[in-house]
Amino acid sequence: MFKKILVANRGEIALRIIKACNELSITAAVIYSEADKTALHVRLADEAYNIGGPRADESYLNQDRIISLANEINADAIHPGYGFLSENSQFIEKVEKAGITFIGPSSNSVKLMGDKTSARRLMTQNNVPIVPGTTKPISTIKDAMKSASDIGYPIMLKAAGGGGGKGMRVVQSESELEESFNLAKSESQKAFGRDDIYMEKFLVNPKHIEVQIIADHHGNYRHLFERECSLQRRHQKIIEEAPSPSISEKDREKITTIALNAAKACDYHNAGTIELLMDEDKSFYFLEMNTRVQVEHPVTEFISNIDIVKEQIRIASGEEISFQQEELKILGHSIECRIYAEDSLNNFAPSVGVITNHSVPHGVGIRIDTGIDTNSEVSIYYDPILSKLVTFGCDREEARSRMLYALKNYLVTGVTTNIPFCKWIMQHKDFVKNKFNINFIGYEIEKYLNEKRDTEILSDEMVASVIVSSLLYHEKRISAPKLNFVPEHNRWTVDHE
Ligand code: ADP
Repeated sequence: MFKKILVANRGEIALRIIKACNELSITAAVIYSEADKTALHVRLADEAYNIGGPRADESYLNQDRIISLANEINADAIHPGYGFLSENSQFIEKVEKAGITFIGPSSNSVKLMGDKTSARRLMTQNNVPIVPGTTKPISTIKDAMKSASDIGYPIMLKAAGGGGGKGMRVVQSESELEESFNLAKSESQKAFGRDDIYMEKFLVNPKHIEVQIIADHHGNYRHLFERECSLQRRHQKIIEEAPSPSISEKDREKITTIALNAAKACDYHNAGTIELLMDEDKSFYFLEMNTRVQVEHPVTEFISNIDIVKEQIRIASGEEISFQQEELKILGHSIECRIYAEDSLNNFAPSVGVITNHSVPHGVGIRIDTGIDTNSEVSIYYDPILSKLVTFGCDREEARSRMLYALKNYLVTGVTTNIPFCKWIMQHKDFVKNKFNINFIGYEIEKYLNEKRDTEILSDEMVASVIVSSLLYHEKRISAPKLNFVPEHNRWTVDHE
């Protein structure tokens, strides 16, 4: 087993990895940028190293600096978390060449799956159904027109090197194609440094379902069931749950088989996720593979009782997967809300500032993975995710009502958060009844804005009463902070209903 791991990330996922290292008695070293000098991951790690300026390219993306640091401090392995360098095959190759273990798949698997067209070709060769469309980049508008009329409108143009919900354009008819094609190419060049794009049939009301898999270096492949991730805004997930309330036992059998085949096709090891779209007729199509730990992995941990991050570390050190497939069963239901520093009422604009209060909910079936505490600074430099609030219940309704309780008792002041928005979704009748697909938030957002715009701003008195009760709840009998610490525009709320 490793003695020391360098965590090449920040925020909640860095803390999550530190926790796994602690449990495995491995020294957790972290990197940090100038902007993160006082960040929680720096304070909780066993060792912390400043590696550069606040911009990600000066620090968390600085491949050579990270690798030379790992060598200097005698780290056996690097855990990349998600985002940053986690799916950068060039980085992984350099780590491999430096004789350090990368906690994740091989550079080769990442290269194969990171290019969406090569992944689609590979899946087709291995009888994995893909969203209908092209499997090679399209270079001319003439080719684009031909492919689009073969596939049938509406179609979606996508960046071959895309990710993070960026670089996608829906085209409804041929008259829009040329302009969209040129825009998609230049957007892709800007965002991903390459302009190759491909085309997929645009599925009108699908659900996003994904399967968590784990593979080791001994030829063992396991799945940890599926997650439902259809609640997205601009193709970015906000709320996830496991298992999917739309999947029957028969469907589960089908999609887990697809996922394991996909993983085998690229000779995968470590944890990974096969993303699928489920069409209205319940056909499943491979969308892409994420070759790293996912943001939403805690819902799977809750329902399977498997610690995915510890499993990643053990596998990377050469151990076999610690469980047999038959030993796993779905233990209940879990829901995750991604808590972002953003203003849902102002076009989800990022909110920056210093956290003046951070008081988290407690109780049976409540987990919070966070990278912040009181006085943490939320800066412009990084993703605005503050924490992940996750609940578990014996069934979906228990997980949902627990989530609502947890959201009501989660206090974050100093920045605006999407907690009120998450609460609204948790109570939406269509969410309760599982009547939603990937367009739900896009369709419903206007309703939310109309309902909430005038009612969310709290009076100072209400702010005071919630702060006091929240502090008492945690039995920290300290006096309530002065009210002028709470920005007037802050919209964390008590419930009005
Ligand atoms: P990224 O890698 O940027 O996350 P994905 O290919 O995983 O992009 O797609 C992200 C989301 O975009 C999906 O979850 C889905 O909501 C939507 N999407 C992607 N492809 C299609 C498609 N062909 N039809 C309809 N929606 C799609």
